[in-house]
Amino acid sequence: MKIAVVGAGIGGLTVAALLQEHGHEVKVFEKNQELSEVGAGIGIGGNVIDKLHNHDLAKGIKNAGQIIDTLAIADNSGTALSKIKLKRNTINLTLERQSLLETIQSYVQSSSIYTGYQVLSIENEANKVTVHFEKHEAETFDLCIGADGLHSSVRASVAPNTKVNYQGYTVFRGLVNDVQLKDANTATEYWSKQGRVGIVPLLNNKVYWFIAINAKIHNTEYQTYGKPHLQARFNNFPNEVREVLDKQSETGILLHNIYDLKPLKTFVYNRTVLLGDAAHATTPNLGQGAGQAMEDAIVLANCLETYDFDQALERYDKLRVKHTKKIIKKSRKIGKVAQSTQRLFIKVRNAIAKRIPNSLLARQTKFIYKTKDK
Ligand SMILES: Cc1cc2nc3c(=O)[nH]c(=O)nc-3n(C[C@H](O)[C@H](O)[C@H](O)COP(=O)(O)OP(=O)(O)OC[C@H]3O[C@@H](n4cnc5c(N)ncnc54)[C@H](O)[C@@H]3O)c2cc1C
Repeated sequence: MKIAVVGAGIGGLTVAALLQEHGHEVKVFEKNQELSEVGAGIGIGGNVIDKLHNHDLAKGIKNAGQIIDTLAIADNSGTALSKIKLKRNTINLTLERQSLLETIQSYVQSSSIYTGYQVLSIENEANKVTVHFEKHEAETFDLCIGADGLHSSVRASVAPNTKVNYQGYTVFRGLVNDVQLKDANTATEYWSKQGRVGIVPLLNNKVYWFIAINAKIHNTEYQTYGKPHLQARFNNFPNEVREVLDKQSETGILLHNIYDLKPLKTFVYNRTVLLGDAAHATTPNLGQGAGQAMEDAIVLANCLETYDFDQALERYDKLRVKHTKKIIKKSRKIGKVAQSTQRLFIKVRNAIAKRIPNSLLARQTKFIYKTKDK
């Protein structure tokens, strides 16, 4: 089949790599002139590694990743609120985003990636789909995969009435070198009224950090926030937070408002399929956005290999729509609880968190691992 993939992010490149292996003629169209990932670090759950089975890509990701076995939550004094042991018999990893993208890209035929190709719209017909670009001639394919992220142009063509929801907080992110964390296999979040700070170990004593602060949607205050503001705001936090912020360079701090997508009823529109953030953008609280994009890619490639065309798209829809809706909802809920600034709510939340057995917390995320891959 002749397939267009719109967007060379984590989802688009993964699906391109897998479909090319299955013998399809795939072209990847990326609006930017270069492939690069905006972001510092990323978590890739065992749900993705498991679905890749013994594919070489799993090995590549494992080589570039730091194993994480525990998620800890503490308050701003460092007092533990809960510790979640991640599922055994699987490997959860953290990576530098750019190294994840490069690892995936190394499995895609380089001549099939067209940078500087911004897709404006697509036109579905019964047996073909035409992709229209800003500066290039339109081209016709058997299938178009919209992997063009939260503000997807492909989605705007096929499902124009979808809604992107701002979640009320903005996130700073950065990457620092030479940090000796007490435990290199534990990612820690510190929850407080001032904001939520995450300290995430990466390979080779690097650390990815993030800070989520409540903010009105068009708030401009945080646009001018830099390292000194963050240091001042979090100077009552435990040593490891202060050390990481001290080591952050003045530049290179990223800032993104957090949105998710109102769950769609379908990802399949005739000859066009949505995948990744274009289909189900979620808040980062479960660390599953990119992981789910990769799962979509694996499932779609498997279905196209296993079933006839119509059945394959039907099966993809069945396996992915309901599951990712659950991820969006759960992740949004965690964000609401974690970002609360109400004194009484925080008091009750922290008291409850200390008492909930770890096994119960782990059970809450079990569904992430329980999905079929075709
Ligand atoms: C603060 C934060 C932290 C996160 N942490 C994690 C985490 O720890 N783990 C995790 O799994 N996920 C995490 N995520 C989510 C994750 O980043 C996304 O879910 C993931 O990047 C989605 O991948 P994608 O390929 O679907 O889309 P994208 O990464 O958005 O890629 C889309 C690509 O399409 C291109 N494009 C867009 N429009 C067009 C067009 N019209 N024509 C051609 N090309 C186009 C873009 O340039 C881009 O290259 C986080 C997100 C945020 C904001």
